[in-house]
Amino acid sequence: MLNNKAMQPFPLMLSPLDLGFTTLKNRVLMGSMHTGLEEEKGGFEKLAAFYAERARGGVGLIVTGGIAPNFRGRISPHGSQLSFSWQTKKHKLITDAVHQADGKICLQILHTGRYAYHPFNVSASSIKAPINPFKPRQMSERQIKNTIKDFATTCHLAKKAGYDGVEIMGSEGYLINQFLCLRTNKRQDQWGGSYQNRMRLALEIVKASRKKVGKDFIIIFRLSMLDLVDEGSTWDEVVELAKALEQEGVTILNTGIGWHEARIPTIATSVPRAAFSWVTAKMKKEVSIPLITTNRINTPEVAESILSRGDADMVSMARPMLADSEFVNKAARGESDSINICIACNQACLDHVFKQKRASCLVNPRACYETELNFESTSNVKKLAVIGGGMAGMAFAIYAAQRGHQVSLFEAKDQLGGQFNLAKNVPGKEEFVDSLNYFIGELDRQKINVHLKSNQSVSDLKEAGFDEVILATGVKPRIPTIEGIDNPMVFNYQQVLSGEASIGPRVAVLGAGGIGYDICEFLTEKGQSHTVNLDLWIKEWGIDTSITAPGGVGGVMQQRPESARQIYMLQRKTERFGKSLQPTTGWIHRAALKKRTVEMVGGVEYVKIDDQGLHILEDNTPRILEVDNIVICTGQESQRSLQQGLEEAGVVVHLIGGADFAGELDAKRAIRQGAELAARI
Ligand code: NAP
Ligand code: SF4
Repeated sequence: MLNNKAMQPFPLMLSPLDLGFTTLKNRVLMGSMHTGLEEEKGGFEKLAAFYAERARGGVGLIVTGGIAPNFRGRISPHGSQLSFSWQTKKHKLITDAVHQADGKICLQILHTGRYAYHPFNVSASSIKAPINPFKPRQMSERQIKNTIKDFATTCHLAKKAGYDGVEIMGSEGYLINQFLCLRTNKRQDQWGGSYQNRMRLALEIVKASRKKVGKDFIIIFRLSMLDLVDEGSTWDEVVELAKALEQEGVTILNTGIGWHEARIPTIATSVPRAAFSWVTAKMKKEVSIPLITTNRINTPEVAESILSRGDADMVSMARPMLADSEFVNKAARGESDSINICIACNQACLDHVFKQKRASCLVNPRACYETELNFESTSNVKKLAVIGGGMAGMAFAIYAAQRGHQVSLFEAKDQLGGQFNLAKNVPGKEEFVDSLNYFIGELDRQKINVHLKSNQSVSDLKEAGFDEVILATGVKPRIPTIEGIDNPMVFNYQQVLSGEASIGPRVAVLGAGGIGYDICEFLTEKGQSHTVNLDLWIKEWGIDTSITAPGGVGGVMQQRPESARQIYMLQRKTERFGKSLQPTTGWIHRAALKKRTVEMVGGVEYVKIDDQGLHILEDNTPRILEVDNIVICTGQESQRSLQQGLEEAGVVVHLIGGADFAGELDAKRAIRQGAELAARI
C-alpha cells in the first residue's frame, strides 16, 4: 500500500505515536506471548536474543509474556514472577538487549487467578474454571489488598529493571477479569455486587501502580472489551471501566477479546482476519487515550486498513512477530510480499505453551531458538540435490542456500508445496496459501535451481555429481486392507482435496485424525467459507455486535450452518473423537463438525465395501452405511523409494519430513527437520 504523495509504504502503520513523555516509532505492538523460555534454565539470555531480534526488526513496542506479581498468581508452580529486587537482574538482560537494538519494551504483569495451574490458586469467588482442574479459593480482603500492593511492586521493579512500561493484564478471563464479571464474582463485600465494586480491583491496581512509578512510565491496560462468555461484561460496563482507567492515568488501552474458556474461536486460522477490530472501533468514540486493536492481524495491509478506518491507534501482533522478526522492516522497505506470514495455526506457539514446551513457529523454526538455530556461511560448500518440493524440501533448500551451499530442488509434480497444496483447500485454512507463496518466493529470491515435473533416478543423481542427496519425498495415503477397497466409490483424501474426485451427497470418512476432520469440513461446507465472510462467521458463532448481551453472547443463538452432505466419520478406537487434535484448536474442529451434524461412529470394525455401501460391525452388530462414496483418511506411509538405490551407489542420503517418518507428520516437524539439517550439513 503506497501513499502516492509521500511514497512511504504503510504511512499510518509506520507513523510515530507520541505518548507525551515518550514517542513510539510506529504503530506496531508486538503483543504479549508466553514462550516457555521464561521458566527455562538460561531462558532469559535466549529471551533477550529473541526480543532484540524483533526490536531490530523495527517493531514500535514489545510486550513480554506474562510475569506474575506473586506466587498465587503464577501460571504454574514454576511460572515466572517478579517480586524482589534480586529478580530484576535477569530482566536487565532483556531490557538492555532491546534498548541496544533501538527498541522499547513493557513487562506484562499477569495474575492468572483461577486459571493458575496449581492448587494454590485464588479468585474473586471459589468457582472452578471449566478449563482447569484446580478449584480456586476465594480471596480474603487482606489477600486482595496485598495483591494490589504486589502489582504496584512488580510495576516498580519493572521500571528498575529498565522496562519502558508495563501492561496490566485485565482480560482473557484472568484475575482482574474474574473480579469484573458476575460469572466469577459472587461476592457481597466492597469487591463484588455492583459494577462499581467489581471494577474496584482493576482501578486500585492501576492507581497503586501509577503512584509507584510516576507519570513518565507507560502503563498499558489490557481491557476485556468482549468477554464472549455468559455473565460477562456488557458494553456499558466496559465503557465505564475504560473511562475510569483513563482517569487513573492509564497510558494506552489494549483490546482483550474472549476468555480462555470461551467456546468461540478468537485467534485460530478459521477466524477471519481482523475479525474483532470493530470492537476497538466502538471504544474509539468513548475515550481519548490511544487504543490498540488485536486478533488475527497478520499483514501490513490489514494493519494499515484498520488504522485508515480509524478503528484504533495501534495494532498488536504477537504471533506474526514469531513468524517473521523482520515484519516491520520489510513493510517499510515496500517488501511486504516477502514477509513470512503467520497462518494462525497455533501448532508451534500456543499448543506448545499449553503442553508446557518451548514455543516456536511452524513457518519459522528459528523463533525462540535465536541463539541455537543459525544458518552461518559455510566454508565447505556442497553440491546438494533435494528431491521433493513440499515444505520439508523447500525449507531445507532455502536454509542450505542461505549458508552458501549449491542447491538444486527436484519436484515430480508441476507445482511446489506438497501437502500444503491440499491443506490450503480446506475451509478455514485459506491462510496456508500465504506460506506457500512465501516459501516459493524465497526459493526464487535465493535463485535456487528448481526443476518441476522432474523425476530423478539414482543414475541421474549419480551422474550429476551431487555430494549429498536430501530425500524429502513425503508421504502417500495408507490404504487399509478391507474387502472391496478397490470399489470405484472409494477415494483417498488427496484425490478429494485436489478436486480429482467427484463426491456424492452421502459419504463415509474412514479415520478421525486431523485429516479426517479436514475432509469432513471440506465436504460439509456449503457456499462461501465463513473465514472469508465476517458477517456469516459472526452469525455462525452467535456474537452480539451491539454487546448489549452480557459478554457479547449471553442468550445469543449460534446459527448452525447448513451441511452440504450427510457424513459419517468412523474410527476403530473407542476413545472420544478428536483426541489427537491440538489443544488450542481441537475443540473448534469438533464444534464445527457437531454443527454440521456429522455422525461419529466409533469402535467399529470394517467388514467390506460393495455397491450397497460400507459394511461395519458397530459394537459387534452389523450395520450398513448406505453411502455414495468412501474417503480414506487412515494415516500415511513414507515414500522413499530412491533411498536404497542411492545408498547402494555410495551416495550420502538424508531423509527429512514424511520420507523420514510418516507417523504424526505435520508441517511443523517437516520444516524444522529441514532447517536443522540445513544448519549442520
Ligand atoms: P492420524 O492422526 O494418524 O489418524 C489416522 C486415522 O486413521 C486414525 O483415526 C486411525 O484411527 C485410523 N487408522 C490408522 N490406521 C488404520 C488402518 N490400518 N485401518 C483403518 N483405520 C486406520 O493421521 P492423519 O489424520 O492422516 O494426520 C496426519 C498428521 O497430520 C497428524 O500428525 C495430524 O496431527 C496432522 N494434521 C493435523 C490437522 C489438524 O490438527 N487440524 C489437520 C491435518 C493434519 P483408528 O485406528 O481408531 O481407526
Ligand atoms: Fe503463527 Fe502458526 Fe507460527 Fe504460531 S506456529 S506463530 S500460529 S504460523
